[in-house]
Amino acid sequence: GVQKPKGKIVIATVKGDVHDIGKNIVSVVLQCNNFDVVNLGVMVPAERILQTARDEKADIIGLSGLITPSLEEMAHVAKEMERQGFKVPLLIGGATTSRVHTAVKIEPNYSGPTIWVPDASRSVGVCTSLMSDELKPDFVRKAKEENDRTRQQHKGKKGQGPHHSLAEARKHGLKTDWQSYVPPAPAFLGVKALSEYPLAEIARFIDWTPFFQTWELSGRYPKILQDPIVGEAARNLFADAQAMLDRIIEEKWLTANAVIGLFPANSVNSDDVELYTDESRTQVLTTFRFLRQQTVKPADRFNHCLADLVAPRESGVKDYIGGFAVTAGIGIDPRVEAFEKKHDDYNAIMLKALADRLAEAFAELMHLRVRRELWGYAPDEPLSVEEMIDEKYRGIRPAPGYPACPDHTEKEPLFDLLHVPENAGMTLTESFAMLPTAAVSGFYFSHPQSQYFAVGKIDRDQVQDYARRKGSRLDVMEKWLAPVLAYEAEESPVVPVAA
Ligand code: SAH
Repeated sequence: GVQKPKGKIVIATVKGDVHDIGKNIVSVVLQCNNFDVVNLGVMVPAERILQTARDEKADIIGLSGLITPSLEEMAHVAKEMERQGFKVPLLIGGATTSRVHTAVKIEPNYSGPTIWVPDASRSVGVCTSLMSDELKPDFVRKAKEENDRTRQQHKGKKGQGPHHSLAEARKHGLKTDWQSYVPPAPAFLGVKALSEYPLAEIARFIDWTPFFQTWELSGRYPKILQDPIVGEAARNLFADAQAMLDRIIEEKWLTANAVIGLFPANSVNSDDVELYTDESRTQVLTTFRFLRQQTVKPADRFNHCLADLVAPRESGVKDYIGGFAVTAGIGIDPRVEAFEKKHDDYNAIMLKALADRLAEAFAELMHLRVRRELWGYAPDEPLSVEEMIDEKYRGIRPAPGYPACPDHTEKEPLFDLLHVPENAGMTLTESFAMLPTAAVSGFYFSHPQSQYFAVGKIDRDQVQDYARRKGSRLDVMEKWLAPVLAYEAEESPVVPVAA
C-alpha cells in the first residue's frame, strides 16, 4: 500500500563526472524502501544540488562520483553546504570515494553529519537511521567518532612511508638493456579509425565478473552462477543481460567506434615519451608526461614510471608507442531515456552496464588486434578470451586516471593526437571524464617487461617538475593530482562560518 515516504533524498553525480550506474542503483534501492528520491543525474554543479535540496526540503543530500577529480568537487560541495548554513546529512559514495577521503577531505569542511556509504545495499540502513528520531543521535555520534578515528590513523600514515627525491627515484627506475633489445616496429604507423564495429564480435570479449560487481553481486564469473547464496540472483541477472545483449546486437541499439594510433617514440626527460611525425624522428608530434613511484622499496624492486618502457632518445634505439580510444556508447541516450520514461529503471541500468562491458571488451579486442596485426609484435598469440581477460599477454594498455598514470589531464594530448572527437565521436568533460560514458582510452606499450603498477603517493619535488614539464601552474596541477599527493598542498584560506 501507499505509505508516507520515510524521507526525501536529493542525489547527484557531481560536476565534471558522468558515471551514474551506482547512484541509480542507490536511487532504486531507496525508492523500493519508501524513500522519496530526487535524482538529479550527472555533471550537476554544486549550486544546482543545493538549490534543489532547499526547494525540495531535502532531508539528506547524496553525492556520487567515479573519477578522482570528483573527490575535490565533493569537498567543494561540502564547503558550500557549510557556507550556506545547511545542517542535513551528507552522504558520499562512488568508485573513488573512501572512508579515508570522506574523513580527511570532506568532513572537515562541513559541520553536519558526513557519512561514507560504500555501496547501495548500505544506503537503506544509513538513511533509515538518519530519518529516525530514536536512532539518529547515536548513529551520527558513531559516524563522527569513526571519522575522527580514521583521521587520527591517517595522520600517522601521511605519505605512506619514506620517499626518494625525484632524482633518486629516477636512479631506481626499471633497468632495461636497450642495446640488446630491438623494439618491434609497427606494421602500420599513424592513426586508424574503425567506425561501427560489429557488436557481436566485441561481445565475445566481455569480462562478466565486473558486470556482477556493478550489481553488487561479488564472485567470479562463471562460478558465481552456481554460488549457494547469490547464484540464483546471478543466474536471473545473467539471463536478462543475455536477452538484452541479443537485442542490442540485432537491433543495433549501440554504435561502437574506435580510434588507435601507433607512432615512433622515445623517452625524454627520464619520465616523458616524445612521439614523432615519422621515422626521421626530427619532428615532435606530441609528448606524453608520466609520473614515477617515489616510495622507498627493497633493493630488488624498481621505482616504476611508464616512460621506462620506451627506449630513451639518447640510446639511439628506435622505439614506438600507441594510443587508443574506444566507445560502445554511441546512441545510448535515447534508449536509456525510453526506459526511464516507462519508469523501467532496471532496464535503464542494465543497458548502461552492458554498454560499459562492451566498451571494456572493445578495448580488449582492439588490444588483441594491435598485438597480432596492427603493431604485430605477437602475430601468433595463442591465448583464449579467458587468458586475455587475465592479461597473460605481452604489453599493457594503461588508461590515464588509473594507478600507473593517475593524471586524468593527459587524456587531452591523447585525444588531440588521435582526433578522437572527429574519429570516434567521443569527448571529454571539464574533469576529463569521457563521453559517452561507455568508453576506455589509453596508451599501448609493447615492451616485454611492461606491467601495471600504482604510482602511489608523490612528493612536491615531482609535482613541481611535472607541472614545469607540462607547462602548467603548480596549484592547478596539485588540484588534479590531489589524490596522489604525499603532502598537504597550500589551500586558499577557507572562510569560517558560524555554527
Ligand atoms: N577486464 C576488465 C578490465 C578492467 S581494467 C574489465 O572488463 O572491466 C580497465 C582498464 O583500466 C584496462 O583496460 C586498462 O586500460 C586500465 N588499467 C588497469 N589497471 C591499470 C593501472 N594499474 N594503471 C593504468 N591503467 C590500468
